[in-house]
Amino acid sequence: MKKCSNCGKEFPEAALKKMVQITGKKAHIKRICPFCQSIVLNNPTYYYLIEDKRQ
Ligand SMILES: [Zn+2]
Repeated sequence: MKKCSNCGKEFPEAALKKMVQITGKKAHIKRICPFCQSIVLNNPTYYYLIEDKRQ
């Protein structure tokens, strides 16, 4: 179980989407639960993180 970076509730890791929040020149990796995703997507400082799994 991991904590959602937004609401702090615990979820299975697979349920949490990794997103990046850009503040100034810094990119912070956040784990966002399904309930917070719709909130966060309206926030222009958040971006999807796409990881290349082929390596
Ligand atoms: Zn949440």
